Amino acid sequence: MKNNYHMHTYRCGHAAGTEREMALAASANGLLTAGFSDHSPFPGVPASRVRMAPEEIGEYVENVLEMKAELKGKTDILLGFELEYFAPYFPKVMKMYDQYPVEFIILGQHYLGPDPYGHYVGRPCGEQELTQYVDQSIEGMKTGVYLYFAHPDLPMFIGEDSFYKKEMTRLCEAAAKLDMPLEVNLLGMRGGRNYPNECFWEIAGRVGNRVVLGLDAHAPEDTRDDASEAKAYEWAERFGFRIETELKLKW
Ligand SMILES: [Zn+2]
Ligand SMILES: [Zn+2]
Repeated sequence: MKNNYHMHTYRCGHAAGTEREMALAASANGLLTAGFSDHSPFPGVPASRVRMAPEEIGEYVENVLEMKAELKGKTDILLGFELEYFAPYFPKVMKMYDQYPVEFIILGQHYLGPDPYGHYVGRPCGEQELTQYVDQSIEGMKTGVYLYFAHPDLPMFIGEDSFYKKEMTRLCEAAAKLDMPLEVNLLGMRGGRNYPNECFWEIAGRVGNRVVLGLDAHAPEDTRDDASEAKAYEWAERFGFRIETELKLKW
């Protein structure tokens, strides 16, 4: 992998590595593009173990830009965020980003609800939660601000297969219509998590979605993962999708 747009720092409360440590590791591992996409804060929402505090954003930006300057000509360090879509917060977050030279954002819908304290979809979800997840994600994709959709198959659904297929087909078809790439998440792959989900990627292959890989690095050593990458290419072959290795920034 030469271009990765999914990388975190210790600021989100569940990752290890400063901006400097992450950027240097990414560069040493041969990445030509290393995008920082730490879990975005929400104005007025305090830090937790899932995202940084709004007060931290200035220092995050400053450090990322410092690494961008330092590694210029070697690795293109990008300033970004992984952002949940919560409609009531969306305009406030966009206004917050306006103050900084943000280069991209990826959609990471970990939580449901109108506010950032909703149900975590990585925990067991029933039909109502899955439908809400798909609705909310589609609404997010429609804003047109996201570069791609990270781990779209994050939900741990515990109901009937037929229901899962119906809802995820709806998600994949919307993504295709909106020209939104979907991410095969290599963190899930290396961790043996409930995602990437084979059933989901079979649907994405059939729908013909655009697909990218994301390291979702939560520590410096995660900035390279040949084994998970190889497995993702096997899935691409098996399910008939093509992996794009570089994306054009929208911002
Ligand atoms: Zn994370
Ligand atoms: Zn992430």
